[in-house]
Amino acid sequence: MPSPRPVPIFDGHNDVLLRLYRRTSASAVAAFLQGEEMGQLDLAKAHRGGFAGGLFAIFVPSQRRNNTPASATNGAAAAPVPDIAADPAPPAVELNEAQRTVFSMLSLLYRIERASDGRVRVCRDAKDIEHCLKDDALAAVPHIEGAEAIDAKLELLDVLYEAGLRSLGPVWSRPNAFGEGVPFRCPSSPDTGPGLTDLGKTLIKECNRLKVLVDLSHLNERGFWDVAEISNAPLVATHSNAHAISPHSRNLTDKQLDAIKQSGGLVGVNFAVSFLRPDGGRDKNTPLELIVQHAEHLLERLGEDGVGFGSDFDGAQMPAELENAAGLQKLVAAMRARGFSKKLIEKLCYRNWLRVLKKTWGEHDTSPK
Ligand code: ZN
Repeated sequence: MPSPRPVPIFDGHNDVLLRLYRRTSASAVAAFLQGEEMGQLDLAKAHRGGFAGGLFAIFVPSQRRNNTPASATNGAAAAPVPDIAADPAPPAVELNEAQRTVFSMLSLLYRIERASDGRVRVCRDAKDIEHCLKDDALAAVPHIEGAEAIDAKLELLDVLYEAGLRSLGPVWSRPNAFGEGVPFRCPSSPDTGPGLTDLGKTLIKECNRLKVLVDLSHLNERGFWDVAEISNAPLVATHSNAHAISPHSRNLTDKQLDAIKQSGGLVGVNFAVSFLRPDGGRDKNTPLELIVQHAEHLLERLGEDGVGFGSDFDGAQMPAELENAAGLQKLVAAMRARGFSKKLIEKLCYRNWLRVLKKTWGEHDTSPK
């Protein structure tokens, strides 16, 4: 029997720009376009697995702690990754340092696009993404994970918007001028600290005005409720899981999920084993099936229009069975085996992301709440 056509997957979160940034930049573009052994996402792996595009995170790494061995933060290491930092939260990052890194990673994305001969395209609206899906080009939406690069007058936000930024997480799992991220703990409630600062609240309103998606992943619970109160856009957590299955501080409680549903928002299921497993462990021998179980719980709370994927490729330990972006159709097969309909699988794989991005970027009411 011929194998079924691959289902395209639009993905809410990857850290490939961080992985490439940590290499020498001369080889980074070619490494992505030609593909290579190391890493979880590149153009070759994307083609093999049906990875059609997604939000490409720009993440400013924390300064290395004095007691961290050099190999732990070296770019050549297997997984020096933003989503498995140790508790307590890493120290804050300076504005200048953050801006330098953001410019460098955004430049890297544009260099990849330029050298790709149309195979990789930076997308500014949902139409751009739909064209990519049609043309079999990789759709890349610039996203900032932690807004440390943005100044107190939010001037850089305007510049980054013009440069293609369409999605922003106010915090990563550390404190900054906008709020406090949730540290990595399991078991733990996501209620770990204070909510958004006044500047953080202003940032959310400004994102609404510019129609930039506000990402709730990495916010602590009070910050989450602040955004829920202020924002006039659908609530979106690009890469988080169900706290009811994996009681990790990075995951969302049912109460939070209910608020996301009420706003017409979306949660992207994260493939990081630490956020999938009930014990929060970093064991790569974690069944792929657990991704489907989180999706099922999220579907129960959010309905079939409110769930997508947010892999965390190149940012976390994946289940060995999936391994990297090339393995994505195994996840599609697991959903089929579980009895998900073709229509539901398409919604989870890309249609729901397109729906929520359209609503966030163009169709929502921009009048202040
Ligand atoms: Zn993350």
